[in-house]
This record gives sequence, structure tokens and C-alpha cells, in this order.
Amino acid sequence: MASSNKELEKDLTDIEFENSLFKEAILFNAILFFKVNISKDIITEDNILNPNSEIKVPQPEDFGLKPPYSFKELCQKIRSSFIPEDTDDDVTFLDDPLNRIKSAYDRGVKNFCVNYWIGKDNKKTTFINQLVIIQKHDDGDLYAFIVLRNFYKVQQDLKRSYEKQIENYAFYDPITEGPNYNKFKTTLQGLGIPGVIVAIDIHSFKIVNSICGISKGDNVIKTVWDKILSTLDSEKYEFAAHVNSDHYIVFYPTYDTEFIIERIGELTQLIRDCSQILKVPTLEPYFGISEWHPGKKVELSNNEAVVAKHTAKNLTSENYSFFDRRDNLRLIREKKIVDAFDSAIENEEFKVWFQPKYNPITKKMVGAEALVRWQQEDGSIISPISFIPIFEQNGIIRKLDEYIFKKVCQYQKNWEMQGKKTVPISVNLSRASLYFKDIVSQYKQILDEIGLDPALVPIEITETAAVNNESIKDIADSFYKAGFPLHMDDFGSGYSSLSTLNVLHFETLKLDKSLVDYIGNFGGDRVIEHTICLAKELGISVTAEGVENEDQDRFLKHIGCDNIQGYFYSKPIPFEEFELKLDNFCILNNNLSTDKIAEHIVEYRQSMIKPTLYTFIVNLTQNYVTQDSGVCDWLSESKNFSSYDEMIKNLAENYVLENDRAAYLNFFDRKKLLDTYCGCEETRILHYHRFLKKTPSNMRSLINIFSIPESNDLWMYVSVTQL
Ligand code: C2E
Ligand code: MG
Ligand code: MG
Repeated sequence: MASSNKELEKDLTDIEFENSLFKEAILFNAILFFKVNISKDIITEDNILNPNSEIKVPQPEDFGLKPPYSFKELCQKIRSSFIPEDTDDDVTFLDDPLNRIKSAYDRGVKNFCVNYWIGKDNKKTTFINQLVIIQKHDDGDLYAFIVLRNFYKVQQDLKRSYEKQIENYAFYDPITEGPNYNKFKTTLQGLGIPGVIVAIDIHSFKIVNSICGISKGDNVIKTVWDKILSTLDSEKYEFAAHVNSDHYIVFYPTYDTEFIIERIGELTQLIRDCSQILKVPTLEPYFGISEWHPGKKVELSNNEAVVAKHTAKNLTSENYSFFDRRDNLRLIREKKIVDAFDSAIENEEFKVWFQPKYNPITKKMVGAEALVRWQQEDGSIISPISFIPIFEQNGIIRKLDEYIFKKVCQYQKNWEMQGKKTVPISVNLSRASLYFKDIVSQYKQILDEIGLDPALVPIEITETAAVNNESIKDIADSFYKAGFPLHMDDFGSGYSSLSTLNVLHFETLKLDKSLVDYIGNFGGDRVIEHTICLAKELGISVTAEGVENEDQDRFLKHIGCDNIQGYFYSKPIPFEEFELKLDNFCILNNNLSTDKIAEHIVEYRQSMIKPTLYTFIVNLTQNYVTQDSGVCDWLSESKNFSSYDEMIKNLAENYVLENDRAAYLNFFDRKKLLDTYCGCEETRILHYHRFLKKTPSNMRSLINIFSIPESNDLWMYVSVTQL
């Protein structure tokens, strides 16, 4: 008698099962198997499949039967010897098995089951599930495979596996295959030792999920879990659970703050290291800690730990925080802010303010930065630092950034259509927005729909974003390829290197206020000088932020900082005020009057550090000098010349030292100035020597070239200073 499941499996391969599960189901707890030729009523094969089974199933030998023997006879023997009297099961099958199988086959039934109790001495001991699978062979005979299963055991096994499943659902986490929060609670309550609950959260995990996909996200959850487990000492009753998403919870049976902080430090390092192993953006864990003691609800301690964890997220110095009752109030306030976002967008409560950027030499506005303000219904204005970090935590920031970007594009387009001369207005792009890969195509689409040149809306990306994330490189590349100038914001507030800037195609570096605040301190001055120098070598322009006083402005101008943004020039201003500034900026666009030219000059002159000796205004195109002023002696030198060309020639020949004469003529060459004028206002400087009352003197001539569109003429303002 063959006796292995393998052989049964082999036999069953002849049968076309609907699927492999069905086959497995047949084998599940099978204890006896017959193959019967129904047409001839002969058992052709039999198997004891589970000889070690404790259940004694009657064997054909028990009835004195030897193969080949009659199936009907076997059934009758079973019926009379093992079926208890009071059974109401389907034992009638055993009375007439052959006809039952034949008629089933005639009805198109290919398999069926009968269930009955068997036992000894009229006692029910085993509940049998008898499976019949019918087949017609090529010889025309009808065959049946008959499998007897211990149904009681089947049921018991199913029940046990079901209970285990329930327990799994209730207490175990499918991703980590470790305990879940319920298990954590039960364990802690059962243990009853005082200590702390530590809630852990991985900053920007949701972003990892959306960039790298859910399966990578699961991988991160599991890897972090393994790291957490590796630090726990179960013998000292330390244990943990995965709560959900990127949230974990740990119990340490101690109130020893130093010990806890040390353990958190250890975990932080292990979790950060996972980023490299998994090739995902930096995983930054945050920890919130709350005390627990027997009698206190675990949920309460957990909630407190979660609140503390949110506090930790906003700290710059540490990544953990111990629960403080005041945290609750803050959390409620933050939730209110998030909840109000959608309606604030709908009601246009987010306003774009503008902070102009200036050229420190010409004092002219060369650009601006768009800064969001939240104007509430009551007119009060909320600063972005109170809501941007909150929006950054949950991805809302992307919607806000896009909203501001779109608004700025629309403003620029309107000004362009009104024929206003405008300046590039940079928009901020949060670190969190950068994690969305489609951001560039989205911005490009907005730009295309509005029909604007990307040069008018540079993108500001903060230094930390650019340094911390490899995928930022691709996004920066795409922005660059789409034509957006890239500005690195807050340079100096983190750990950037200038080489990053070059690789990432940054066009402008924005020196952070924290660096600018160091001006006046020897070391600080050198750092800024060095940074500007290196940036220049890389062809990157520099804008200093947060310039508040004249000393800072002067220093920055002196060391070649290209542009300045700060309260010294202008605070961020609302739309109407900025539009007015744009109008003033284009004074010469509106009205060709000497008054306007004079105004321009006055404004320009304010920019000069030293008072000038002598100035004049030239119409370069028409070759005449319209106005001159200054110290009398000097004025007489330029008087009585009918043309500018003539005047310059005379001054060069009679007053400028020979060594500098060629440079002087070249610098003031009218034709050259007309040819090289690049279309926007510009300033050039020449140093030279000339006679001053017969003694040589060191001079500086500064020219400011500007256009007046209505007349098509090019103008020049010349100021001459003795150094
Ligand atoms: P930021 O991009 O570095 O912008 C410069 C911040 O410095 C602005 O603060 C500006 O008002 C302030 N500032 C400029 N000059 C001076 C100065 O001379 N002294 C001082 N004390 N501060 C000066 P604001 O407008 O409060 O914005 C703060 C930050 O909020 C911004 O820093 C930027 O990171 C963020 N932000 C503003 N608008 C947006 C936005 O639309 N999207 C995103 N993602 N972030 C924005
Ligand atoms: Mg900025
Ligand atoms: Mg900044």
C-alpha cells in the first residue's frame, strides 16, 4: 500500500482541477484514498495518506478484504461496523455508492462530498468528510477517486488558523511583522512598570512614499523597524511597536532623561544611516517623549508623546522633545491653520507682496522677490513664517507655491501687456514642493498658458534643499532646461559648498541675512568677501539678503556684491505700492521732459558715495551736452563746445595725463557707447589722472547711460570725482 501525499498528488495530476488551491484542498488532512473502477466495482488502488494519524480509520484488511476487492462491499462493511446508530448524517451513500456515483456522473456532476460520523461501540469519534471525484477513462469505464478526510481535524485546524489570523490582525503589524499599537498597549498594561513612551516619526516619509512608491515606502518602514528593534533590550523590558505609516512607539522603563536622550541619539544615527542603504532622501527621525505609570491610560501618554513629537519637528537644535502641557494648545492652533487653507485660497486671502532688489551702485531696482502674506478677513496679516512650516509638514505648501507662482506670472503678463517696464520677480519654492517630480512640467505649463518668458520668474530654492537631496539635482536641471533662472536662497544658513551651486546650475546666490549680520566682524567680512569672489569665478551673481544699514550696503557694494535686498532699501510691499514703484522706475517711459530727466539724475546721484566735482548730461545720439554743473573752475573747461565729441577731445588733449589719454578717449567714445549699449540702464567707471591746477590728480569718471523710449535717443549722465 503506497503511503505518501506525493503519490496522491501524482495520481491527481490526471484530473483537471480548476486550480492548484483545489488540489491542495483535496490533500488537506486526507487520511485515506481509493481509486475505484465504478463500472466493474473494483478498488484498484488505495493509500493511507497519513499513517501517523491518531484517528484509526478502518482499512480494507480490517474486513479481511484483499485487492482487488469490491468497493460496494467495503462501504457496507464500514456502514455496519463503524457508523453509530443515531447518526443523521449522509450515510445513505454507503448503502448504494456505485449507483450514487453513476447517477451523479449522468447528471454532469464531476465531484461531490458526503459527511458522516464513524466510531466504535456506537460512540461517535471521527467525523469523516468523503470526497468523490468522478472520471471516465478511455476504456469506457467510470472511475472515482475517493478521499476520506478527518473533518473534525480540518475544522479544528481552520479554527486555529482563523484564531491566529484574528490575533495577527489584532496584535501584529503586517508590514513589520512585529507587534502593533494594540499589542503595545496590552503589553504595557500587563507589565505595569513605570517609564516613558517615545513616539517616533520620520520627517518627510510621506514624500519618500510619493517619490519612491509605496513598496519602497514599506521597505523603509520595515528597515527602520529593524533598526529600532536592534537597539532594544527586551530583558530590561524595553519594547516597541509600529503604529502606522512612519509612526513607531517605544517603551523604556525609566524616567532617566540622560539615558533616554542617549538612546534617542543612537536611534537617530541608525535611522539616518538607512537613507544610504535604501537610497532614499534623508530619513530624519523625530521623537516625542511622555511619562507613563500604572493607572495612567496608555492612550493618554501616547497622545502626549505625539504632541511633543510635533514640537520637536519645529526645533532646530534637537530632534526630540519632552511633553509639555502648553504643546496641546499649539497643536490645536496649527490644526486650525491647516483647516482654513482651502477656504483661504478660495477667498483669495493669500496675497503676493514684493520686496525689491537693488543694484548698490546705481541704486536702481533690478528685480524683486514675491513673498506670500495671509490677509485674514479682519484685515490682519499673518507672516509666512507662522504658516509655511505647518504647510510644509503635510504637502499643502505645494498648492500654495503654485498659487503664488501663477499669480506672479499673471501680474508680469499684465504689466507686459500694459507696456510697463518690469523686472524679474523671483518666487520661492519650498523644499517640500521640490519632492514632487512633476513640479517643473506643471510650472512650465502654467507659464506656457499665460505666455510668459521664464526669465521673468526666477525660482528660489533654499540652500538646505539643494544640499540635502540628490533628486533636487534632477529637478534643478529640469528647471534650468525649461529656462528658469535658479536662485539659491539662504546661502550660508546651512552647509552649502559653492561647488554644489555650479553643478546645480544656480544663476544667483542669495547670501542669507545671518551672514550679512556678520558684516563689521573681521572674520564675517572675510567669509563674505571670499564667497562673493568664488561665486564670481563660477559666473554666479550674488544678492545679499537682509541688508538693514548703510555700512552693510557700502561694504557689500565695495566687494562687488551685485544686488541687495533688505529693509535698507525697501521692506516687502503690497501689490499697489510695488506697481507704483515700477511706474517710477520707468519715469523716462512716461514723459519726455527735462523734469523727469532731472528726477532720474537726482535719484541716481543719491547713490554716489562721494560728492562729485562736476557733472553733465549728454544726449549721446544727438551729440550734445544739455546741462552741466559743479565747481566753477571745472565748468569753464567744458564750456563753449558745440558738440560732446569736441568737448571730450578737448578735455583729453588739454587736461588728461598722456598715459591715460587713450583710455579716456576710448571710454568716452560716443560711437562706441552707442554701439555697446545693451538696452538697459548701465553704469561704467573710469579711473585716470589729469591736471588739477597744474598738479596731477587721481580722478574717477562715472557714466550712467539710460534710454528714453519716446525719443529713441540715448542719454548719459557723467559725474567726475576727485579721489
Ligand atoms: P526668504 O525667501 O529668505 O525671504 C526673505 C525674508 O527675509 C522675508 O521674510 C523678508 O521679509 C525678510 N527680510 C528681507 N529683508 C530683511 C531685512 O533687512 N531685515 C529682516 N529682519 N528681514 C528681512 P518673510 O516675508 O517673512 O518670509 C520668510 C520666509 O518665508 C521666506 O524667506 C521664505 O522662505 C518663506 N516664504 C515667503 N513666501 C513664500 C512662498 O510663497 N512660498 C514658500 N515656499 N516660502 C515662502
Ligand atoms: Mg526667498
Ligand atoms: Mg532667504
